[in-house]
Amino acid sequence: MFDVMIVGAGISGAVLAERFAQDKKVLLIERRQHIGGNCYDKIDSNGILIHKYGPHLFHTDDAEIWQYLSKFTEWQIYQHKVLAMIDGQPVPIPFNLNTLYKVFPQNLAARLEISLLNNFEYGKKIPILELKNANDADLQFLADFVYEKIFLHYTEKQWNLTPDKIDGAVTARVPISISRDDRYFSDRFQAVPKNGYTAMIQKMLTHKNIKLMLNTNFSEVATLRDGKIYLFDSEFNGKIFYTGMLDELFNYKFGALEYRSVNMKFEMLDVENFQTAATVNYPNNYEFTRITEFKHIHPAKSARTTILKEYPQNYYVGKNEPYYPVFTDAAKTAYTKYLDELKNCPQIKAVGRLAEYRYFDMDDAVKRALEIHAEFKN
Ligand code: UDP
Repeated sequence: MFDVMIVGAGISGAVLAERFAQDKKVLLIERRQHIGGNCYDKIDSNGILIHKYGPHLFHTDDAEIWQYLSKFTEWQIYQHKVLAMIDGQPVPIPFNLNTLYKVFPQNLAARLEISLLNNFEYGKKIPILELKNANDADLQFLADFVYEKIFLHYTEKQWNLTPDKIDGAVTARVPISISRDDRYFSDRFQAVPKNGYTAMIQKMLTHKNIKLMLNTNFSEVATLRDGKIYLFDSEFNGKIFYTGMLDELFNYKFGALEYRSVNMKFEMLDVENFQTAATVNYPNNYEFTRITEFKHIHPAKSARTTILKEYPQNYYVGKNEPYYPVFTDAAKTAYTKYLDELKNCPQIKAVGRLAEYRYFDMDDAVKRALEIHAEFKN
């Protein structure tokens, strides 16, 4: 009845379903009551489009990915800007040459700017852990300041670890920028879907060859027995693209993979605007990491506004959402064991942020799904 089964209707599952549906019958199952995975957005009672699972800002340098998604949505041009509250002042993040002049007296800022330009090419991006190794007293001073004021306490809140204990690639996502570019991303294409991610994904999934089942767990419809897969009690010989967590698929036999979760607390306020940028980070104050005001991302005519405060927390299986993989050695070892276990089920292919246990941006997830489709389409 079905040629292909896809587990999970987030962005990875949606791209796979859309692609395979061109010439195959696709069963797409989703455990939540909505499509879109963590990109899910909806209009709230203030008339504002909010991102239920935290702010999602699309950005890519890859024209093919941009063109592919453009088949399913019009875009609203949006270049994300983030401020960080440092010593009581909102300053541009990533830390750049403009930020220098906001946090230091002018003559000190000018001296530090010269030191930076003497050591790094204009336009370069330097991860904080690299800047900390600088062989120059001024740059040492600057690195210590940025580390303490921007990275240390934010990272402790976000990961419950100091920046030197997490994968360097994570803090390198927000490098020090030797430029006057205040944007959070410098990619060629930056935008949000005009009517939201859910509407874009809905359009991807509107195809006669896609059968979508919401509120459906993999284990409710499929069983693995002796390397064979039974779908609705009949043997299924097609390919399964699984975008969920591998530990869950194998009943946590090698332990639960580690994640950080976030308690997303939305507030509706009786003011037209709460802050001047879409996101303001609070590295050094409060228990939340950042506040996002969605009106700045999706403009809305409303006398009220909706904000989101993100409170990082431990992840507990079945209790909250697994947002960020924590790449401890134990977790990496466990994940490798799950991948080995998956070799006993050659019909199942792990795809996407959860199944591949990766810190994917949306464009990475789309790219990966397109690659997997190209590999398995025949
Ligand atoms: N980070 C930080 N201070 C900031 C912003 C980011 O320490 O003001 C660090 C923190 O460890 C965070 C990482 O950089 O987890 C990546 O930040 P990004 O904004 O890319 O995280 P995401 O939006 O994916 O949650």
